[in-house]
Amino acid sequence: MSEQWIFLDGKLVTKEDAVVSVYDHGFLYGDGVFEGIRSYNGNIFRLNEHLTRLYESAKSVMIDIPYTKEEMTQVLIETLRKNNLKDAYIRLVVSRGVGDLGLDPANCRKPSVIVIAEPLRIFPKEMYESGIEIVTASTRRNRSDVLSPMVKSLNYLNNILVKIEANLAGAHEALMLNDQGYVAEGSADNIFLVKDQKLYTPPGHIGALVGVTRNVIIEVAREKGYEVLESVFTLHDVYTADEVFLTGTAAEVIAAVKIDGRVVGDGKPGPVTNDLLESFRKITTTDGVKVYDEALHVS
Ligand code: PMP
Repeated sequence: MSEQWIFLDGKLVTKEDAVVSVYDHGFLYGDGVFEGIRSYNGNIFRLNEHLTRLYESAKSVMIDIPYTKEEMTQVLIETLRKNNLKDAYIRLVVSRGVGDLGLDPANCRKPSVIVIAEPLRIFPKEMYESGIEIVTASTRRNRSDVLSPMVKSLNYLNNILVKIEANLAGAHEALMLNDQGYVAEGSADNIFLVKDQKLYTPPGHIGALVGVTRNVIIEVAREKGYEVLESVFTLHDVYTADEVFLTGTAAEVIAAVKIDGRVVGDGKPGPVTNDLLESFRKITTTDGVKVYDEALHVS
């Protein structure tokens, strides 16, 4: 395999040289923000939406990203080009940077910016054809009045506990409820229900990240004439839905066909899920920022 190049604090370095200080507060405290982005055939899908979320997360926690959005776009393009990648998963991390052992961010000199682009790990095709099995985790979603779900921070411990519960149950993914017992989201994806041809997804403020893929699906579904409601719902609504699917940058649109042992619909991905997945796939290669057509502007 050819050398992998990683953008680290202003330079493209090899994977071996891409090392971060143990005093970086991203490592010591999970103090930082990140995005998971995807490039489809040289098109960075919905990059502007991902960058908006990153810069808003950073603003909220008072991390001053040392690049403009335009410069960051060029950094991503340059990283993909250097790695000759067209289809890639891109991880963009901005940590508080190197400080001392105390948690005070005032002692961190400057944020660290890291971009890792890797060939895509595509979920097996069968998973989209057969659907996945999910369970409800006992771990609750962090309360949105404690840390806003819109801050995509490096602190993913809660989500990791949820994933551990999924693994222990032999399931592909697990759902988190919010502190009031309403369904919030999966460990790294949003949830939609289909009931009587209408779509339902929880509003962000109840404790769900407002996913870029979620918003794309809402748009696509409305264009196709489906009614979409952002509303709270319970596990009962999930168990009795006609279709349930999860959305995310990695997961795309994937049907959940068994939930806590209850078979959803007829146990196969339903027609609405398949219809939306097909429409989603059509726009992934066109809707975004092109990596290879444009001249590179590096200042
Ligand atoms: N919820 C959580 C907790 C996530 O980590 C992700 C993945 N970023 C999502 C939802 C889906 O968001 P997106 O569609 O922007 O990838």
